Amino acid sequence: MNFKRPASPCWRLLGVLLLVAAPAMAAGPCDEFSVRLPNVKRPLCESAGLQASTARSVQGRTIWVRDIRPDNPTVRVLVIGAIHGDELSSASLALQWIRLASQSPVDMPQAVHWRFIPALNPDGLFSHPPKRVNANGVDLNRNFPTPNWDRDAKIYWEKRTKKDPRRYPGLKPLSEPESKFLQEEMERFKPQLIVSIHAPYGVLDFDGPAREGYVPPSRLGRLYLDQVGIFPGSLGNYGGVHKGIPVVTIELPNSTRTPLDAEMRQMWIDLLRWISERIKPERTGPSLMPAR
Ligand SMILES: [Zn+2]
Repeated sequence: MNFKRPASPCWRLLGVLLLVAAPAMAAGPCDEFSVRLPNVKRPLCESAGLQASTARSVQGRTIWVRDIRPDNPTVRVLVIGAIHGDELSSASLALQWIRLASQSPVDMPQAVHWRFIPALNPDGLFSHPPKRVNANGVDLNRNFPTPNWDRDAKIYWEKRTKKDPRRYPGLKPLSEPESKFLQEEMERFKPQLIVSIHAPYGVLDFDGPAREGYVPPSRLGRLYLDQVGIFPGSLGNYGGVHKGIPVVTIELPNSTRTPLDAEMRQMWIDLLRWISERIKPERTGPSLMPAR
């Protein structure tokens, strides 16, 4: 094979065309996100500045992230959308909040380092129609390694859900690349708070360390606290109960429509207020402040 042979004019022209076309082809996720997600127009998605993580879904889709880090952060907060792929509005809210987080800093006692993962389950999100489970048919929010998972997750699925395929926990914990990525992010990022966005039950849930006297947010916007219990393998159970990281679970009222922009902003303001009252800056002890 002769590598030194000069390219013919025809091949050179093709090379130039490919170079010109490359930026458009490497456009990132916004072509797809702005078509699939409610209330997400292309400029909003572009302004989110999503970055490719190294993680890929079962079908090879990139899992996108965005970090917003002030100079001297004292609190780390991880925000996750679309762990269930058919809860489209959850990814939209995460993107709306990225915009708010990157706007002018809010006056609060802690400097928050945000890490957003707006669509943890892209295969479910982009399937036709969108699916709760990932491409292996696993409910990612039942696939986290809570104690006794091998016994409890299977029994719960068989007996309580009557083998509902939308709630299949998988063959073993962290069997899926998406749940594994999130668990690794928890190890790497060491969040002091996790906010997990779902739909469509229209409530707020909270899982925290099993200690007395800690106060979950009573409301975010029009969503009020209604603690619904825990499930084997869920993120709230794994993060909140077993890893000692408070998990705020937001259930938006509709899967395919976002709340109004003003409502999403109010939820953000309420979240920031609760963080400033309840999440203690890192260097000064335990992550949650006790009730006053
Ligand atoms: Zn959900």
